[in-house]
Amino acid sequence: MFGLYVHIPFCEKKCIYCDFYSIERTDQIAEFVTTLCREIELRAAVNQHIPTASSVFFGGGTPSLLSPIQLSQIIETIKVHFLIHPDAEWTMECNPGTITQQSLASYKSLGINRLSFGVQSFHESELAFLHRIHTPDEARDAVSMARNAGFDSVSLDLMFALPNQTMESWQSTLETAIGLGPDHISAYSLIFEEGTPLYTMLQRGRVERTGEEQDADMYEYAIKRLAMAGYDQYEVSNFAQSGSECLHNVTYWSGDEYIAFGPSAHGFLNGSRYWNFRSLARYTDDVKQGNLPLANSEKLTDIERMFERAFLELRAKGIRIKEFAEDFGIDILSAIGELALWEKEGLLVISDRITLTATGYQVCDELSLRAIAALEKVTGVEWEDRISAPEEPREDESYFTIL
Ligand code: SF4
Repeated sequence: MFGLYVHIPFCEKKCIYCDFYSIERTDQIAEFVTTLCREIELRAAVNQHIPTASSVFFGGGTPSLLSPIQLSQIIETIKVHFLIHPDAEWTMECNPGTITQQSLASYKSLGINRLSFGVQSFHESELAFLHRIHTPDEARDAVSMARNAGFDSVSLDLMFALPNQTMESWQSTLETAIGLGPDHISAYSLIFEEGTPLYTMLQRGRVERTGEEQDADMYEYAIKRLAMAGYDQYEVSNFAQSGSECLHNVTYWSGDEYIAFGPSAHGFLNGSRYWNFRSLARYTDDVKQGNLPLANSEKLTDIERMFERAFLELRAKGIRIKEFAEDFGIDILSAIGELALWEKEGLLVISDRITLTATGYQVCDELSLRAIAALEKVTGVEWEDRISAPEEPREDESYFTIL
């Protein structure tokens, strides 16, 4: 599989926990769209023999701040310069506070066939705490509007382990989400990312982290409740009805390649990871001068690819045993001696893949660490994890003003 990722770096208002690159300068969207289209042309010009894409993903930021005309301009540019499979998945992340029935209908007519709504919670007070711009009712309406516009594939992002969130409150958010019938749900534990207002609040003692036990209980509840409701877990935080896994994310978790456009976007092409400048000003300057807005890139060695594959696949649909041996010459079953024991303990199942069970997902971090340590021992190489630890320094020209 091969994917395209487009980063739209604008939000109406920053949420307090958010570490993604986005700025509250919606007046700059029109100019950005022109620059982005130029970057798409530049990347196509320097990269020959790009495979046909099976997915295109508009992430951000808030892609639903784009007008249909702006979105159409970007899609047309992509189609002129890249081959896209006729049945490709076209996902757009949407904020329930920035859509209308009409805008969703237009997105659909432009070829978007999957919507991912950042809902996070169905409780007014939790949304207000997070500085989300939408209400619970707007999130509910967003799903109805998506259905009316003809979208079969709708995903909801939810968040648990919020400060002061009770188990009952999390359960009712989950129930409301399930009741709306999306074919995909992502459920993330709140992370206190350094540099965000939430992190500062934590440091100043204005909020407290949810205890580890409560966090684990909420996660366990989500796994069990979603399984009962017919959602298969196919990654630590992702659940889908049969056949509704997000193809774009599966591409990423399988170690397949993808091109990324937009400030701060990370791509993986021809065995190299690259990332664009995390600054709209710097990004725009480079592209205007006819240069790729590349902050840096690095070629992955075979060993690094091996570590990344093991790490990502274990957290997702499982490590493909035969392919792992073919690609890296390592028999994963003998390399990680503890696998048989973990299977006995019900943490994973070994078939043609090594796949975590619901219980295994709950201790996924611990298992990943131990699996990587075993591979380090076999190869004699220490892995530098660049997946969970981003490489580039921040260069945001403006960030938060809300504290
Ligand atoms: S809407 Fe999404 S991208 Fe924008 S600040 Fe909130 S979480 Fe971040």
